[in-house]
Amino acid sequence: MCNLIAMKLLSTDFDGTIVAWDSHVPCDPAFAEALEDHVRRGGLWAINTGRSLPHVLEGLSRLRPPVPPHFLLTDEREVWYRKRSGWVSHGPWNETCRQRHEQLFQEAEEVFALVKELNAAIPHFTILYDNELPTGLVGASEEVMDRVAEEMAKLAALHPDFGFQRNSIYLRFCHRDYHKGSALAELCRLEGLTREDVLAAGDNLNDLSMLDGKYAALPACPANALSQVKETVRAAGGYVAGACFAAGVAEAMRYFASKNGREGANTRPALENVGGCETQAPGLSR
Ligand SMILES: [Mg+2]
Repeated sequence: MCNLIAMKLLSTDFDGTIVAWDSHVPCDPAFAEALEDHVRRGGLWAINTGRSLPHVLEGLSRLRPPVPPHFLLTDEREVWYRKRSGWVSHGPWNETCRQRHEQLFQEAEEVFALVKELNAAIPHFTILYDNELPTGLVGASEEVMDRVAEEMAKLAALHPDFGFQRNSIYLRFCHRDYHKGSALAELCRLEGLTREDVLAAGDNLNDLSMLDGKYAALPACPANALSQVKETVRAAGGYVAGACFAAGVAEAMRYFASKNGREGANTRPALENVGGCETQAPGLSR
């Protein structure tokens, strides 16, 4: 069995990282083994996802991992703990997060008006609403969203706090200070961990904030990750796996465990899309 002591916290994305898009198959055996060993040795596991709490719990009921996660970082910004009584909100962080988003969305009328104009110019995307406030966009294709994201970057620059997170054909409006990286940093602060303790793994653009080396010293991605994600992981001295999805995460866990303190970036060339990764655009999952 490999030595996973150095890695205290595993932060994994969900869709496209530990499960294939829209997959209903149980947990990958190699990942299940590495995860079980990690937790047996006292390691912690956080799922860091764009899914909401109910949506990630539904996904976990299908995945059936051998051990449950200790933490859920949901909606790319909220922090939840697993207690005996169930999932408990990290109240101060989540409440401040909610208040800052509420204030931002009230202030961002100009941006939202321009998003509607953009929708008239590029019709193949839909604006998503919650209580009449725009919360994000979903496009008809990756190509449409490439163009939309380019335009959104210009609109977001109009407000100092306005940002967005893109995950394939989905784009979520958010406060610039809230993303997977900052949620991970808050969890580390609460748990007394440093970036050196964290292995983070993700596959898409909304994972970049936890893979650029700022919040996790051990960034990784599976072979099915976007090329921009792989470039970010490599630039941060991380590990690009040869295997797809959860098998790739297990490979990264083994790699960092066997590294045993050796310095330097991963120089082993990754085997792209070994095993034929499914990388098509997702359905309703994030
Ligand atoms: Mg993903």
